[in-house]
Amino acid sequence: MKHFGLLGEHLGHSLSPKLHADIMRQRGIDGDYTLVELPKETVEQDFLTIKNEKYFTGLNVTIPYKQTVIPLLDEISPQALTIGAVNTIHFTEDGKTIGYNTDYYGVLALMNEKNIQIKGKTALILGAGGAARAFIAAIRDSGASQIFVASRSAKAGDTYMDCPLVSYDSLEQEFHADLLVNCTPVGMWPNVDATPLSREIMRRLGAVAALDAIYNPEETLFLKDAKALGMIAANGLTMLWEQAVKAQDIWAGWKPE
Ligand code: NAP
Repeated sequence: MKHFGLLGEHLGHSLSPKLHADIMRQRGIDGDYTLVELPKETVEQDFLTIKNEKYFTGLNVTIPYKQTVIPLLDEISPQALTIGAVNTIHFTEDGKTIGYNTDYYGVLALMNEKNIQIKGKTALILGAGGAARAFIAAIRDSGASQIFVASRSAKAGDTYMDCPLVSYDSLEQEFHADLLVNCTPVGMWPNVDATPLSREIMRRLGAVAALDAIYNPEETLFLKDAKALGMIAANGLTMLWEQAVKAQDIWAGWKPE
């Protein structure tokens, strides 16, 4: 039997054990998936102990350790380096630890599923946080000509992963984007009546597609408004599922380019 798990601090509400159990069942993998809660004070030492024990084939990593593990690993994939966060670790048979970011592949799968062609187009990401970093990397690698990031604290000339930061006020003036992505928690259950952009501003931005990193509720007000405006709309469920699928691919020996 192979052993997988999730490394984090407080993991009580994680969906990962269920996702990985489903994938392993579908693939006929004889494995288990456990929650590994480590305190901040000892996480570095505990991680090295885990590495030396050679028990796990793979671990996912969540908040607050997605950056913490980076200097502890032998290799980091180019995508994880760009994003600045590791959410998947492969403990290889030759004793190495390799860090990946599979949220990146989750974003690619989400865009692919909805046939969103961003090459040469403009994207506007809402919120300069962790999810935004995976979207920026995947959208940039997909050939977007321009990516803007809306942030509540944007000041003139600021950038986020080399993308210009824009204020929400500036979106009320003349601004265009082909793709809108909500990477804020605004609209997440239970605050389902909240949305990061008014329908009127969304209409004026003139986008053809809207993606929401949120998956609970299935349809946020942001996505309802997008649909009402005739836009392609999709929630973050495919991204969530696909990041887990890609982690299993990596643990089974698949190597990203
Ligand atoms: P995060 O690192 O905390 O970043 C969220 C960003 O949203 C913040 O940095 C902030 O940016 C902005 N924000 C926060 N509160 C806001 C508010 N009240 N109004 C406007 N903007 C606000 O969180 P995250 O990890 O990126 O997660 C963001 C969302 O994506 C969550 O709903 C999470 O569940 C979801 N998510 C989904 C997946 C998936 O697989 N589908 C993966 C990761 C995350 P500024 O301060 O710059 O405005």
